[in-house]
Amino acid sequence: MKGKMKAAVLHQPGDLRYEEVEIPQIGDEDVLVKVTACGVCGSDIPRVMTTGTYHFPTIPGHEFGGRIVELGSKVDENLKDKKVAVIPLIPCKKCKLCEIGQFAQCEDYDFLGSRNDGGFAEYVKVPAENVVVVPDNVADEAVAFLEPISVALHVVQNCGVNFGDSVAVFGLGAIGIFVAQWAKAFGAAHVFALDVDEKKIKVAKELGLEDALCIGQENIEEIIKEKTNGVGLDVAFEASGAPAAFCQAIELLRTSGRMGLVGRPTKALALEPEIFEKILRSQLTIHGTWSFEFTSFPHHAWQQSLEALSKEEIKTKPIISHRMPLSQTFDAVKIMADKSEFFYKILIEPEM
Ligand SMILES: [Zn+2]
Ligand SMILES: [Zn+2]
Repeated sequence: MKGKMKAAVLHQPGDLRYEEVEIPQIGDEDVLVKVTACGVCGSDIPRVMTTGTYHFPTIPGHEFGGRIVELGSKVDENLKDKKVAVIPLIPCKKCKLCEIGQFAQCEDYDFLGSRNDGGFAEYVKVPAENVVVVPDNVADEAVAFLEPISVALHVVQNCGVNFGDSVAVFGLGAIGIFVAQWAKAFGAAHVFALDVDEKKIKVAKELGLEDALCIGQENIEEIIKEKTNGVGLDVAFEASGAPAAFCQAIELLRTSGRMGLVGRPTKALALEPEIFEKILRSQLTIHGTWSFEFTSFPHHAWQQSLEALSKEEIKTKPIISHRMPLSQTFDAVKIMADKSEFFYKILIEPEM
């Protein structure tokens, strides 16, 4: 497709401009996606405000999807006009890790929204194999959530949440709230969804997470002890990046308990000897996780996420706090950077 489009273009850290650029020209194996929604991710804040992208100018935004409006000559005709979510990671398929199917650990990957142009635009050029077709019964805006839902699924599967388990999730950001919903879908008896922000606790309860608790307002330890008959947690997920949450999670785990790390750290982590010793004595297992599973590139975890959305095991609507037009992308990033007002997930909707 020839012509101009609107996009939010990063020229340098702190300089995100809403401007007109050329519509990207697709190759034989690409599709052109007309974006319906792109989420602003926590990782977009440093990317836009301080650290920047790998080169300039770049269009950020990696949680997106939309409609396919153009197909490359070698692309399956059936994809025409399809509603799709976009997997932003483009593995090299040549390195050792790609060879064994660990695409998320690829040594030389490309990424839409940081290394290459992403979803804060009207149109994005996407390799055809990076799209996942979304059924009509799934809301259009859900395309923006497949990435965080699949990241959340990855940590839950890595730690193995079993039927009847008692689980806590520390930090109810976009990933944490999906971790909590997955834990419930996997059959956990209790899902203690924990955050310091009472507005997030309210949203968690709307999502059916009845054991959601506000840190600082409720006695978390006492409640968890009581509801687990003094045993403690089978699994704790740290999705906040806060050292205090890490330590509290360790304290609340049962013997042989499991911990999943998915929140990126905000500060150095200092461990008191008794916390360290708890890890030893109770033989705790700590899982680090990164990105999402896709041993069968590209459709692995994303299909499972889509199914959960279809069945409404995972819900997204209560999490959307703002819908903003493309022209206000920088304002959206600033709301999240300054915390000037309550936000949960902010969606940029270019068709607005
Ligand atoms: Zn993200
Ligand atoms: Zn690779």
